[in-house]
Amino acid sequence: MSSPGTPKYGANERALDGASATKNTVVEDDFDAPVINVTAAAAVSAPASGNSSASEPEVVKEYMTFDSMDLPLDLLRGIYGYGFEKPSEIQRKVIVPIKNRRDTLAQAHSGTGKTGGFLIGILANMDKSVNEVQAGVLAPTRELADQIYTVAKGLTQHMGIRVHLAVGGNHVDADLAKLRRGSSEIPQLIIATPGRFYDLLNRKAIHPSTFKALILDEADQLLDAKFKEQIYCILSNPFKWTENTQIGLFSATMIPAIAATAETLLARNPLKILRDAEEVSLDGIAQYYLLVDRPEQKLDALCDLSDCLTFTQCTIFVNTQKDAENLCDAMTGRGFDVSYIHGTMDAKDRKRIMDSFREGKIRVLIATDLIGRGIDVQQISLVINFQLPVQHSNYIHRIGRSGRYGRKGASINIIDKREMRQQEEIEAFYGRKVAVLPMDLNIYN
Ligand code: AMP
Repeated sequence: MSSPGTPKYGANERALDGASATKNTVVEDDFDAPVINVTAAAAVSAPASGNSSASEPEVVKEYMTFDSMDLPLDLLRGIYGYGFEKPSEIQRKVIVPIKNRRDTLAQAHSGTGKTGGFLIGILANMDKSVNEVQAGVLAPTRELADQIYTVAKGLTQHMGIRVHLAVGGNHVDADLAKLRRGSSEIPQLIIATPGRFYDLLNRKAIHPSTFKALILDEADQLLDAKFKEQIYCILSNPFKWTENTQIGLFSATMIPAIAATAETLLARNPLKILRDAEEVSLDGIAQYYLLVDRPEQKLDALCDLSDCLTFTQCTIFVNTQKDAENLCDAMTGRGFDVSYIHGTMDAKDRKRIMDSFREGKIRVLIATDLIGRGIDVQQISLVINFQLPVQHSNYIHRIGRSGRYGRKGASINIIDKREMRQQEEIEAFYGRKVAVLPMDLNIYN
């Protein structure tokens, strides 16, 4: 195990393996098209390598109250003011180690408060009198970044810490103006999407040397396929990240290959909280399926369900942007009041739709996996998979949109006979049976 301050990459530098090349590539900072990369669910809880003892996972101390965590008073006031009374399980485990500046790799169920967990941890070390960017959080989508920003604003309400949201879709000049050298009000916490963050690094508007902490939310997604190269570029040698910057990697899912990559980033007395795939199957959410003979019968089934089921808000997942638009047209044509969201929509439209959904003005939202991750709308009680996700790990992200923070939730897969095998694979992946939809439609346990 390397201790804080121990050089890991030559001159105390951090870098992902193979991350030394400077590539001038900026990928779009959104996730939408499903990535085909199905990996067996085995052994995610096993420490993959390296810094910690492989055979003896650490027993993590839990702090049962925020008061017992020795947090700055103005942060504590923000926590209670934001409405958090007691820490959730993940918060009980990660806040103090993060505050103690340990690198962290943590897998936490969707909707269990991981945003608060990493934010409170890093905020505990921030100093309002230091006029520089002290910490950053990277998230794969603008929507998620926006949501983290909202929580950060809430938690810092008494701290006087300046929080800034830097995402694609907004003009970069606005970021540059805020970060301008010589400004007396430089943001101290920056929440960003990877593309914009990389751009700001390249323009030397932000400097790794000022960062005490860098958090990657939905880390498995940021370290996989579409974003991997972007993250490599961000962490590549020219930018000179050192072990002075604490790293936090958070996700609801973590497949072994990604966990192994993630581990190469950890250096400061790392804390690892990983779970088995079965453990992340969201006990609070009742999972059902409805089988139809042929694909063209799915729409009828969906419309019948929409008529008969009780729910506060509902998300219907499909796999492609075209499918989202087509399904929205078809349901609207049958008199249903539905909207859709996907990754190639204009940033303003996406924000408008997400805001309306959060405010409850939209009750049924058809979505691609763009909002399958991390997005927290507490009133979603029902998730319908009109198409099963191509990547198994997205199933948990999708159904995790319901049943937020202990509320009741249900998910229904509408499948035709050809998709039965795919569903069985998902069941095997999570070690859970998905039940047949009951005739009485009494779906909330
Ligand atoms: P997250 O998993 O971070 O998306 O959080 C899910 C939901 O739980 C959000 O609506 C949070 O506001 C809420 N939440 C997080 N931590 C707490 C807490 N300690 N007490 C009450 N609600 C919380």
